Amino acid sequence: MFITIEGPEGAGKSTILDMLTEKLKSEGFKVIQTREPGGIEIAEQIRKVILDKQNTAMDSRTEALLYAAARRQHLVEKVKPALDEGYIILCDRFVDSSLAYQGYARGLGIDEVYSINQFAIEGMMPSLTLYFDIEPKVGLERINKNKSREVNRLDLENLHFHEKVREGYHILLNQFSNRIYKIDANHPINIVFNEAEKKIKEILKN
Ligand code: C5P
Repeated sequence: MFITIEGPEGAGKSTILDMLTEKLKSEGFKVIQTREPGGIEIAEQIRKVILDKQNTAMDSRTEALLYAAARRQHLVEKVKPALDEGYIILCDRFVDSSLAYQGYARGLGIDEVYSINQFAIEGMMPSLTLYFDIEPKVGLERINKNKSREVNRLDLENLHFHEKVREGYHILLNQFSNRIYKIDANHPINIVFNEAEKKIKEILKN
């Protein structure tokens, strides 16, 4: 089962993902937690290039292609083999990030970015996507408080950009309402976790 987690900065994706992985493993499920861009060596190298705060000259299409390249490698090297072995894959970000960030917020077009991603993923979409919704102002305040988090190129974008990202996710919610499930990430962490777990269990039963 391929499950992805989406949301803007500071929505709490990685914390909830750690909690979900631990819980499902303790119940005997075979789970692999991974992330995009990254998850395997080649894709982690691409991640460094994309997020390097020195790379301010990076063109939006270059950025979109690099995300798609990292995605492709991660999919064939890690996700597909694990799915074949019956693992649940919990992946921090996937195609929807590209559609919201590069497609909508950067203005490349959701359909255009979807089409380059089709080349990369060959139709492999998740069974469920949990989208953690939060107001960008609140999310950015949360990450600014987290001193251990390294500043990346995207952190240099202004609030307006992050508001566009959220708008992009809301468009995707309408477009892919069968697959994407919205969770209000303003709630305390345990409530968010319980809702995420409930939704995953529902899908696992089917
Ligand atoms: O979720 P995570 O913090 O690992 O993402 C790293 C950075 O990459 C974030 O700042 C996120 O906004 C950015 N990103 C992006 N476009 C994507 C995926 C992630 O700008 N398609």
